[in-house]
Amino acid sequence: MAQIDDLPPLREVIATHSLDARKSLGQNFLLDLNLTSRIARAAAPLDDCTILEIGPGPGGLTRALLAAGAKRVIAIEKDTRCLPALSEISSYYDGRLEVIEGDALKIDPVALAGGDKIKIVANLPYNVGTQLLLNWITTEDWPPFWTSLTLMFQKEVGERIVAQPGSKAYGRLAVLAGWRTTGGMLFDLNPKAFTPPPKVTSTVVQLMPREKPFACSRKMLEKVTAAAFGQRRKMLRASLKSLGGPADDLIEAAGLTPTARAEEIDVEGFVRLANCYAER
Ligand code: SAM
Repeated sequence: MAQIDDLPPLREVIATHSLDARKSLGQNFLLDLNLTSRIARAAAPLDDCTILEIGPGPGGLTRALLAAGAKRVIAIEKDTRCLPALSEISSYYDGRLEVIEGDALKIDPVALAGGDKIKIVANLPYNVGTQLLLNWITTEDWPPFWTSLTLMFQKEVGERIVAQPGSKAYGRLAVLAGWRTTGGMLFDLNPKAFTPPPKVTSTVVQLMPREKPFACSRKMLEKVTAAAFGQRRKMLRASLKSLGGPADDLIEAAGLTPTARAEEIDVEGFVRLANCYAER
């Protein structure tokens, strides 16, 4: 197998530090160095910004990022058992790695970068991955604190993020992602690439911030998408009744057809709907 640095192989790191994977922390470690390097290359260039990694675990992806030339990596890890292994990586790479112990959901990423541009790269824990993504794509400030997101998800979640109207996977997540970002799925990873292997295929998604996002309030967009996709098989005229007031007027003001269903409406359609709803 390929070698990317002179640190011990990941299997040895896991054995030395007794890092048996814990389901409660969404731990599926990626040990295939060809794949960790491929993810790092997908996020390149890495030398002009700070990389924020969530959940480095034993440090496979972290090492790939550093070996590929990352100027600085800040990694947030909740599992304290991983800290000694990560500290060895930090010493080997001359302190280019800074590890923060804690819950990524509770740490303000903007404060960490100290004004530097940030790229987020992570093999996300499946139990908090979607919430973290939503936090990053719905930040108040735009352009956001990050310039790209290169993230691994379960494939089914990746499909829901990049889904287009008319598909089964198209829903609230795709509308929120499409509102603020552009991007797509880069490549899949077989469960066998992980220890322990998850039940499903994973995929790497890359998203870039839209330079000119469609203007609307996040709160309103969330309200209209929740109502529309909450009853996705119903026509808008029925599903949007829960918003109160005459649904047909609202739908027509947004230039949409009351008999259409949520999955037929593109992101711009939902943005218009959110803006008309806000004006009510
Ligand atoms: N990056 C490693 C790799 O690719 O092999 C590990 C990925 S594993 C899927 C997810 C990692 O996220 C684990 O190391 C886990 O301990 C960590 N984690 C889980 N929940 C977290 C949270 N809320 N904040 C920070 N790290 C978390």
